[in-house]
Amino acid sequence: MRKLTGKVAIVTGSSKGIGAGIAERLAADGAAVVVNYSRSAQDADVVVRRIAAAGGQATAVKADLSDPAQIQPLIDAAVAHFGQLDILVNNAGIYQPDSLDSLTAESFDAHFALNVRGLLLATQAAARVLPAGGVIVNISSGLAKSPYPVVHVYSSTKGAVDTLTRSLGMELGPRRIRVVGIAPGFVKTEGNAESAKDMTDFLVGKTPLGRVGMPMDIAAAVAFAVSDDAGWITGTTIDVSGGMVF
Ligand code: NAD
Repeated sequence: MRKLTGKVAIVTGSSKGIGAGIAERLAADGAAVVVNYSRSAQDADVVVRRIAAAGGQATAVKADLSDPAQIQPLIDAAVAHFGQLDILVNNAGIYQPDSLDSLTAESFDAHFALNVRGLLLATQAAARVLPAGGVIVNISSGLAKSPYPVVHVYSSTKGAVDTLTRSLGMELGPRRIRVVGIAPGFVKTEGNAESAKDMTDFLVGKTPLGRVGMPMDIAAAVAFAVSDDAGWITGTTIDVSGGMVF
């Protein structure tokens, strides 16, 4: 029997990038997966079809996690479709570089609305139905602890995520629900491959293991975090970065 057989997982923002990698890995480990997307049904369907082709179970559900009104319906859809919810992976996030000079109130609000408020409200809604043994994974970033000068707002959202991982772990521990943060270093995705092309040498130079990360590197860590092998881990964030620090 595979590690996650009989479990149901939601992965927010999993129509592409790291989220798609996590959705595919959890499905390969036996979970039935809700592939959440906010815009592209087509991209989400591609992920669902890839999971089905590999013998897994998945369905796509639209919800913009920056809109509080769309969060409860996502949790309800998972329970309606698969009968239960065991795992929530808070992956959806936006990233815009800024500097003290260029940052705006609009960008600040958009980052916090998704990266922090969306994560917290999704956790609140999920916690109402998660059983003992349930797991919440928060996707953080190495920039939370090792920030970079021109990424003020994004880095501070991930600092808030790490704080929430700690406090939520404490609140949900007595119910035997674990909360684990995963902090990726630089990960190459379809979305950033072009924009990060010129940065690759710099980023690899900062990474002791000598390469950029791939979605499957992060997915493997999430698969561990939600498994019983991580049953004594909660309220903390694990760096998955090849050792990268700025
Ligand atoms: P990405 O832009 O490729 O994917 C982000 C996903 O979130 C997409 O599926 C997108 O559709 C979804 N999304 C965006 N806005 C949404 C909304 N309002 N509601 C629901 N979904 C929404 O990004 P990624 O690089 O795959 O990042 C995934 C997570 O990993 C993010 O939390 C990001 O901060 C974190 N992270 C990424 C890296 C990296 O180098 N790629 C490094 C550290 C942390």
